[in-house]
Amino acid sequence: MSGGKRDTRLIHAGSNPEENFGLINPPVYRASTVSFPTVAAQAKARRNPEQNFVYGRRGTPTSFAFEDAVAQLEGGDRTIAVGSGLAAISSAMLAFVSAGDHVLVCDNAYTPTRNLSENFLKRFGVETSYYDPMDSAAVKDHFRPNSKAIYVEAPGSHTFEVMDLPAIAGAARDAGIKVVMDNTWSAGYFFKPFEYGVDVSVQAATKYQVGHSDAMLGAVTMLNDDLETVAASVRVLGFHAAPDDAYLGLRGMRTLSVRLKRHEINGLKVAEWLAGRPEIERVLHPAMADCPGHEFWKRDFTGASGLFGVALKPAPKEAVNAFVDRLELFALGGSWGGYESLVLPTNVTRTASQLPSDAPLVRLHVGLEDPDDLIEDLNAGLDAFNDSR
Ligand SMILES: *Cc1c(COP(=O)(O)O)cnc(C)c1O
Repeated sequence: MSGGKRDTRLIHAGSNPEENFGLINPPVYRASTVSFPTVAAQAKARRNPEQNFVYGRRGTPTSFAFEDAVAQLEGGDRTIAVGSGLAAISSAMLAFVSAGDHVLVCDNAYTPTRNLSENFLKRFGVETSYYDPMDSAAVKDHFRPNSKAIYVEAPGSHTFEVMDLPAIAGAARDAGIKVVMDNTWSAGYFFKPFEYGVDVSVQAATKYQVGHSDAMLGAVTMLNDDLETVAASVRVLGFHAAPDDAYLGLRGMRTLSVRLKRHEINGLKVAEWLAGRPEIERVLHPAMADCPGHEFWKRDFTGASGLFGVALKPAPKEAVNAFVDRLELFALGGSWGGYESLVLPTNVTRTASQLPSDAPLVRLHVGLEDPDDLIEDLNAGLDAFNDSR
């Protein structure tokens, strides 16, 4: 089914009970070998592997169902599922570049994206320059005749600035440069990349699609024009989504809308409370008026997820650690998007722009707990912060 409003599509996308004895959920098909009755039948399937099962690495009914659901969620023509968000980023970027090419990456990109440029693309003769995500008018000054792709991420990892996506994507499009977006923060739910000039959208489905902190999964979504280029990249790299994980991603998507709405409400309540505290220099939450690029978030996004940044007042590292260590409901750990609250002290590298704050930064993921309990927990954490300042 492809019609219906967003929340209706989320419930029915990729669902095919009549093909599975009427069962609501598709089973987990585990596969390596796919067998064929004749050479001719195998050759026929291989001619159209996007619609047939040819080998476990190339997908199963379970991963195809997840892909169908993500494509409908983001408004793309096709999604390819891979084993992690980072695999989605690598396959999308590697699809468009050759030795001698140039790519642009926003200065507030997810750190492993920078590592892909510095530790990998560089070795293969692809040069990267970083641009200030908040200076959209200047982005085209970085374009070169050999620029092949621009990487955008909104809001930025750890600092949460929201760039003027249509302006940046429009300039890139005019110059014939592919726009690759990391759309993980919005879960593909609060931002529709293909309506704003994005060519390829990647998501760490590990986060909100899986939603329960128990699987790694990535999704690369595109329009038909780029399908073969991106599919060839995923094929040659050997990337693949495990069927059990694709199942968990699809299962998580059925409750994505209610979870995200609660993450949004809880996140804002906690963020607003923190903003009123004297220990806090700044809260970096795209839905709050003083977040850099708030006006673009308001214009282009339909909501906010539960992830945001907090700049504490200048303090020794020990005080920041005391704050984090005192928290009981916020677990210390990487990743996010599960049902639970998380905290992570962050260190950010900038080479082309200013940080929105020089104060110590922590990232919070606000989960589905009662926000009053989360506030009480943070209150105790701030007491510990004050005691060791
Ligand atoms: C976590 C994350 C990724 C990578 O996802 P994995 O599934 O952990 O590889 C990519 N982009 C952003 C913004 C992330 O937060």
